[in-house]
Amino acid sequence: ERTIQVIRNRIRAVPDHPGPGVVFRDITPLMEDGPSLHAAVDALAEATKDLDYDRVISAEARGFVFGTALAYRSRKGLVLARKPGKLPREVISVSYELEYGTDSLEIHADSIPPGARVLVADDLLATGGTARAMCELVEKSGGSVAGCAFLIELAFLEGRKRLSDYNVVSLINYS
Ligand code: IMP
Repeated sequence: ERTIQVIRNRIRAVPDHPGPGVVFRDITPLMEDGPSLHAAVDALAEATKDLDYDRVISAEARGFVFGTALAYRSRKGLVLARKPGKLPREVISVSYELEYGTDSLEIHADSIPPGARVLVADDLLATGGTARAMCELVEKSGGSVAGCAFLIELAFLEGRKRLSDYNVVSLINYS
């Protein structure tokens, strides 16, 4: 509807980034516009309001923007999933595949108490590798995934298939 259209209008398509043939969806114009950022966070909060969760997990860097906003709004804690070597204490680590090679995400070993229900939040769902890694971090910690929430979904990359065990919501879809 209208709100979604307002948000969509603030997402810029950048052809051939980071490589030929790829259309990068740039959300910096959306974040720079106060009413659009506010509307996007409210719409994500509305889409996840029926999920029962104790904590939010998100990955650096753009994921932190929406993870923080959702956690703040719902008065839940935020778990930071970071690239290797950034966190100072004992970590749990999960590797995931990129187009070329692999990457890892880490959280502190005590960030998710056993039995905690965790909402996975990110700006964008592409292949699903990043979100899937966060789900694995939650489960390795002894928690469970309450759902996965994204501002944008690149549906043609079929990231949902890698998240088929979970409840997935997204606001804006590119097919
Ligand atoms: P995935 O792991 O393939 O699902 O990629 C998702 C991650 O890559 C998210 O954390 C996004 O921030 C980032 N990403 C991938 N494609 C785009 C894009 O077109 N715009 C913005 N971020 C992207």
